[in-house]
Amino acid sequence: MTGPDADSPRAVLFHSPAFQGHRTGRHPENPSLMAAIEAEVGARGLLSHRPEAAFTHAPPEAITRIHDPLLIANLEASRGNTGWIGADTMVGPESFDVARLAAGAAIAAIDAVIEGPSRQAFVVARPPGHHATPSRSMGFCLLNSVAIAAAHALHRGLRRVAILDWDVHHGNGTQDAFYERDDVLFVSLHRAPFYPGTGASFERGAGAGTGFTLNIPLLAGSGDTTYLHQIRSVVVPAIDAFAPDLLLVSAGYDAHVHDPLGGMNVSEAGFKAFNRVAIELADRLCDGRLVLVLEGGYDPPALARCVADAIELLDAAAGREGGTE
Ligand SMILES: [Zn+2]
Repeated sequence: MTGPDADSPRAVLFHSPAFQGHRTGRHPENPSLMAAIEAEVGARGLLSHRPEAAFTHAPPEAITRIHDPLLIANLEASRGNTGWIGADTMVGPESFDVARLAAGAAIAAIDAVIEGPSRQAFVVARPPGHHATPSRSMGFCLLNSVAIAAAHALHRGLRRVAILDWDVHHGNGTQDAFYERDDVLFVSLHRAPFYPGTGASFERGAGAGTGFTLNIPLLAGSGDTTYLHQIRSVVVPAIDAFAPDLLLVSAGYDAHVHDPLGGMNVSEAGFKAFNRVAIELADRLCDGRLVLVLEGGYDPPALARCVADAIELLDAAAGREGGTE
């Protein structure tokens, strides 16, 4: 497969130097991750010939579709301060505004894949979001960008949204947000037992949402073969059966073999294979509509290569759809 030339349609990329403004000191989730991604993406020439991707802070009504007023009030109170808002989650003076901007980028990505200019988008933003529950910021996450994006997509009139979470940690916040709903399918592959302790296979949703949460716990040390077996035998049939209008991916890269936190063995070729499956699913079910939202990944060079690889694959998909057959 070859990438698109300069005239081919490309995926929309949502990124900004402002995402380095969530200052967390020596915390593993720190601005150097974003700097490494920007450098790698720039070195591969992936920033040129790119569709315009304007975005701004998520509006309050988009955030309150997912989060409780108390969580928002706590984050507002953190403005201008530095400190811990949980056992593992740090905020700096601008962190709430950066988190609002990350959620705003995810919202803009939904608008982009619905209205154009492309059906493929990657939100390269931080802080990550998938551990943030409706009522609690946790696990390095302040606001749940992917959940806010899914709720925005439904608000815009899409009927069903699937969220595939391949971050090494269980996306407990996203699960909580949609646990009793049948219009969002949440599928997570994650290491277990591991932080945050949720995501057992018997957690399948409740009420109207029963059967619309799918958890696939994996043992420490799992690699490409295990992941791809589960993706092909369990994830693909479940998303096929759900028939979503949009596929969102909580794209964490902390299952990478070099990751200092994850303890898994996924290779860069493995992540590319996950991406190809997501593209195939979106092409078959969602008229191509696919939004990747960055979650974890704590080895800066590995994270940067994985993100750049994903952008190249999304570009190739955009080029195939936009070009002549
Ligand atoms: Zn993670």
